Amino acid sequence: MTTNTPSDTNVGDSTSGAGTSQSLDFIRTVVTDDLKTGKYEGRVHTRFPPEPNGYLHIGHAKAICLNFGVARQFDGLCNLRFDDTNPTKEEMEYVESIKDNVRWLGFDWEDRCYFASDYFEQLYAYAVQLIEKGKAYVCDLSPDEIGEYRGNLTEPGRDSPHRNRSVEENLELFERMRNGDFQEGERTLRAKIDMASPNIHMRDPVIYRIQHATHHRTGDTWCIYPMYDFTHCISDSIERITHSLCTLEFEVHRPLYDWFLDELELYHPQQIEFARLNLTYTVMSKRMLAELVREKVVDGWDDPRMPTISGLRRRGYTPAAIRNFCDRVGITKYNSTTEVALLEHSVRDNLNKCAPRVMGILHPLRLVIENCPEDFVDELDAVNNPEDPSAGTRKVPFSRVLYIDEKDFNEDPPRKFHRLAPGREVRLRYGYFITCTDVVKDDDGNVTELRCTYDPETRGGSAPDGRKVKGTIHWVSAEHAVDAQVRLYDRLFNVPDPTDVDEGGTFKDHINPDSLDILEGCKVERSLGEAKHGITYQFEREGYFCLDSKESRPDRPVFNRTVALRDSWAKIEKTQQQQHKPKRGDSPK
Ligand code: ATP
Ligand code: MG
Repeated sequence: MTTNTPSDTNVGDSTSGAGTSQSLDFIRTVVTDDLKTGKYEGRVHTRFPPEPNGYLHIGHAKAICLNFGVARQFDGLCNLRFDDTNPTKEEMEYVESIKDNVRWLGFDWEDRCYFASDYFEQLYAYAVQLIEKGKAYVCDLSPDEIGEYRGNLTEPGRDSPHRNRSVEENLELFERMRNGDFQEGERTLRAKIDMASPNIHMRDPVIYRIQHATHHRTGDTWCIYPMYDFTHCISDSIERITHSLCTLEFEVHRPLYDWFLDELELYHPQQIEFARLNLTYTVMSKRMLAELVREKVVDGWDDPRMPTISGLRRRGYTPAAIRNFCDRVGITKYNSTTEVALLEHSVRDNLNKCAPRVMGILHPLRLVIENCPEDFVDELDAVNNPEDPSAGTRKVPFSRVLYIDEKDFNEDPPRKFHRLAPGREVRLRYGYFITCTDVVKDDDGNVTELRCTYDPETRGGSAPDGRKVKGTIHWVSAEHAVDAQVRLYDRLFNVPDPTDVDEGGTFKDHINPDSLDILEGCKVERSLGEAKHGITYQFEREGYFCLDSKESRPDRPVFNRTVALRDSWAKIEKTQQQQHKPKRGDSPK
């Protein structure tokens, strides 16, 4: 299922190509060296290997940009491979969303979309080969017993009582496992390695388990399924991947991958681990994201508050902004947490270059220009993007009745308030100077309307007599405006690390109850009657907004605020730099 329209036409990439940072991080340095020494006959072949058990998130974007980016930079290839070894958690919906997301991010696997399930027959043959070599055995311990026998970090494990079965018996039992003769959990196939290994992953890991479940691609062909560790390294080998890039937690699995490939005498890709992306105010595990979806804390995987690619897209983030963010974060060996403000900064930075400017009023206040005739309409020229002259201009209609934003008027203005107030003159953006002459209130004393005059001599925003005004405010013509609903989003969690919970607590205890604010009756300029899906606009002085791909209708547009204008990143960056500066008195050693 894809819920977004394909026409994403905001551009403004600051890098030369998608995610192709030309600088050399430690992985690109290894690749460069391998190319020099001819290690893989000059080939560079990477892969992005998602499990289709959820939607991709911004952390996956980092892995996508790295794998496809390295391939692109070094004239290599990158496969998309679904690691679909768990039939109970996987669905075609996820496969489709993942393909859609990778494409949207600007990457292309060409004709190389593979599924680990395509290798099931071959994997089975490799398992048989291990049995024949005396390197794998069928074990009758239950999953709990296997856990008990495994030992822990300080104690070695104990050998399974079935460890020394004959090759013949193992072959027969494994075949019967395949034929469906046993119940789930009754038997497993295990690699015969070393129950005393300091690396727990080497203590006779399970490589096949029985699961009487229908697989989303192979149907009921199989009732035994290979484990991830066995499948992953062999899939990489089958696809002749040169550099198998994965996150740090797989470092401890590497000896096991090497063991499988060595025992089976298979081609060895080089695995290189990098730090996963963590973001403040965000949870990134698919399990947690799935929980939010299942419990309807959010409106689906693509809820604009979700850190999923689909959510960010629906929110109005651009592929270029996400790629630039990944470039900025870079690739390191050390786990750390990135400020979500940096992601927001990347979005603003990109949208500032490419977002068309428009005017939208979120909290409308009616304003009548008394010296303007009833039927007067002046089509004013407005600049579409001051950062991009090629974007041209558009017409915005000016007429007798306008809307301005409530917050741009103050009856009793404090000293630094330069916007509209009784008796004060301000400039209407792209328009005229207006002066507030009267304030209309309801019985409760709320301001319901402003009465103003305009100076016809100030068309275009300056006065021939040279008089200045301090404030410029945005506005729309009431007669021409389009009614819209606007959704303002705040962070989904109200603490920097939502996974840091008290005993008995859950990450959901930190959900921000005010993460969504729906504004009805907003008034947006006429041109937005033809707003396009997939384009993020700047509502001047308010932030960036895009049509909601699910809820918006032609007769009632719904806009999501992508991000507000104020950027907190510069301040955070400065503080971080100060923290890292040597303190006075620190003497260099
Ligand atoms: P999660 O831990 O979020 O549930 P996962 O690691 O199980 O996700 P996979 O589908 O296995 O999800 O991930 C596909 C690829 O994306 C893997 O190579 C994985 O290392 C990488 N990846 C997943 N999360 C991140 C992250 N936060 N930062 C960078 N890469 C990631
Ligand atoms: Mg995984």
